[in-house]
This record gives sequence, structure tokens and C-alpha cells, in this order.
Amino acid sequence: MTIQIFPRLEIPETLAAGPGPGNTDARVLQAFAGAGVADHMQADVLRGMIECKHMLRDIWGTQNTYTFAVAGTGWSGLDAMFSAVMPGDKVVAFSNGTFSGIDSLTLRIKAATQAELAADSLNPQAASVTVIEVPHGQSVSAETVDAALAEHKPKWAFMAHWETGSGRVNDIRGFSDACERHGVMGLVDAVSSLGVADFSIDDYPGIAGWASCPQKGLCCLPLTYAPVSFREEYVHSLKATGAYTYVHNPIFEARHWGIVDGADVEKGSYHRTHSGYAVAAFHESLRLTLQEGRANRAESYRMHEAALRDAVTAMGCKVTSNMTSLVVLNLPDDLAGREMELVQNCRAEGFGIWPTLSAPVQIRIGILNQLRPSAIWEIVGRFADAMRALGADVDQAAVDAILDQHYAPAVAAQ
Ligand SMILES: *Cc1c(COP(=O)(O)O)cnc(C)c1O
Repeated sequence: MTIQIFPRLEIPETLAAGPGPGNTDARVLQAFAGAGVADHMQADVLRGMIECKHMLRDIWGTQNTYTFAVAGTGWSGLDAMFSAVMPGDKVVAFSNGTFSGIDSLTLRIKAATQAELAADSLNPQAASVTVIEVPHGQSVSAETVDAALAEHKPKWAFMAHWETGSGRVNDIRGFSDACERHGVMGLVDAVSSLGVADFSIDDYPGIAGWASCPQKGLCCLPLTYAPVSFREEYVHSLKATGAYTYVHNPIFEARHWGIVDGADVEKGSYHRTHSGYAVAAFHESLRLTLQEGRANRAESYRMHEAALRDAVTAMGCKVTSNMTSLVVLNLPDDLAGREMELVQNCRAEGFGIWPTLSAPVQIRIGILNQLRPSAIWEIVGRFADAMRALGADVDQAAVDAILDQHYAPAVAAQ
């Protein structure tokens, strides 16, 4: 047998202009690389986790004691949140794109009975779960949520705050109000909105559980932590039913973050091996978020998304999204159907835009941590080049004029 040792893996610098991950901030990478070797019970690592917990409460806008972060990616935090959903639990889930679709699958897996899971283990049809499908490109509305909760009276309701697959903002106010009205515990996928939108989860008392991710609004890809936050009623329910997991049971996981029996304690206790590198990086990303300020950052996303939207619209593209961290668009009619080809051409050149991951095929261009006029100019310029390469007749002067118009006030103010 021959042993093959591959050459050292080199990964190039690309322009990450997709729906996520965003460009990890240089300060975050520095914190990651600069951390010393320390075990997961070393005093500064534990202190860092406690400080992260407090910063997370400010970023989420909450007094929830059970606010901490789950090691891993967005799905890790979501899995921890969904761990309280037990076989046979009545659930209504709203799906309007790729991610809320996967969340709905997770809920069908969690709520399926043993027989239902065995009957179709990768796609169980749980009788207790109702998935309301909202067409791609549309938002989940208050009316849709209210009608479904009134009809089904579930224990849990689920919605994505921002559905990154179709680029749509869903009505979190309507969702929370409907949950309160019908005595339902809301669960929300806030993977794409935390650190981008300016919201405080304590303003939405109908929502009992929230889960986000490290690498979108928080600019912290080096495999770190998925922020979560739970209201008391969620924790009571979880305590009462238990969950079929040790590692992702939020009550267990919270202990390492210094949360025991519903109260803060001075020092965390062992749950799993945390990485000092990851804690340092995550800590820095939270500091960065608070230093910039939630409201400032949200305003900056609004401004740059508007510039990008108007620029691609001037190229004849049709934007169907309303999130501020990305645009989801269709190509002009004469290039319709060539979206995937254009995305592949861009990606081959290190310009990392994305297609949609479920039908219909659209193009997604993101601006996570690209909140500078020069970055938007570059993204717009490279996208225009890619359209020209497919034969489009892009009026560069018109596009430039639009960006000039958007950025003139900012430049004048400098
Ligand atoms: C990106 C995303 C996820 C998945 O997050 P990972 O970090 O890839 O695990 C889930 N939900 C939404 C809304 C997302 O945007």
C-alpha cells in the first residue's frame, strides 16, 4: 500500500460576495492566530466565554439568561434550538426558501415518531408537523402565520427571520404576535439577520427560541460559535421533556458559559472542549459588532445594498429580494436561463457569487462585511464584466453614474 501525502493545501484569496460566509474580519483572524495554547478550563478562556455571553445579550437585545453560543455553524445552533422538539410534538413551520426548507426537514425529523422516521428516515412525513409552503421570492406574512396557528394550535411554530435562499425578510412582528395570541412557542432561524439587522429579541415575546451563526453578520468564519437565546418558557419545556442529545441540549451546553439552573454563575463548568483560538476570535467579532453599533451597521448595509441594487437594475437585472445583506436577481430577458453559467464563470475567477440552491435558479450577490464604496464598486464592476462576457450590452456610464450618485454624499462628507 502506498501512502500519499498531498502538497500543503493552499487556498487562494477570493472575493467572497455571496450570501455567506462573509469576509472574516482581519481583526478576527488576528485574534484567532494570536491566541496562545490554552485548554478549555484555563481562566482566560473561561472569562472570555463569560464576556462573550454578556456581549451576546447586548447584540441580541435580551435579558434572557440562556443566551450563549453553540460550537459550530448555523445548523449547530439551530439543532440545539430544535432539540426541545420531541417526537409527536405539534409544529407549524413556514418555509419560503432553501434554509427554512431544511429547518422544516429538521423539525419533521425531530417530531417524527419512531415509526414515521423508520418509514422514510431521510425525509420523514411527521403527521404532527404542518409545513406551510410560501412561494420562493415571497415573504411569510402575518396573515399567513395567524391563519395557520389559529387552525392548527401547535406547541411550536417556526419561521426564518431572513430567508437567505430567496433573499426575503419575513414578518417577525406578525409571527411573534400570532404566537402570543395563540399560546404557541415561536422558534426563529436568525442566521442571516443577526449582526446585519437592528432588532432586539426582547421586543418579540412570542418567540421562545432564537438561533444564529458565526459567519454571516458576525464576520467570524474560523469555525467558532452559533449564538442562541432562549426565553424561560422554552427552558421550562426543555427541562420538563428532556431532549435526545447531550451535546446540543441547551441546558447542558449553557453550563460551560456559566449558566446553571437559570442563573449566571461566576465560572463555566465542563461541557465539551472549547478552543481558545475560537473563543478569542468570536470574542473579537462581538467586540467589533458592539463597537460599530448595531444601528450603524444596519444603516450601512441599507445604504450599500441600495447602491448595489440600483446598479444591477441599471444593467437590466430584476431584483426580487428585500434583505440588506444581498441581492437576489434574475438576468435580463435575453440572458434568462444563463444564471448558473454566469455564476460559474465568476467563481472560476475568484469572484464568489452564488446561485440559488433551490428552484428557480437566480443569482445571489452578497455584501457581508463589504461595507465600503470601493468594495461595492469592485463587485459591480466584476459583475458587469461577467454580463458582458455573456454578450450583454452594459451601459457602464449609466452604472457609474448610479454609484456616483449613491456615494457622492458619503464622499462629500469625508
Ligand atoms: C446560512 C444559513 C443557514 C446555515 O448555516 P450554516 O452556518 O451553513 O450551518 C441556516 N439558515 C439560514 C437562514 C442561513 O442563511
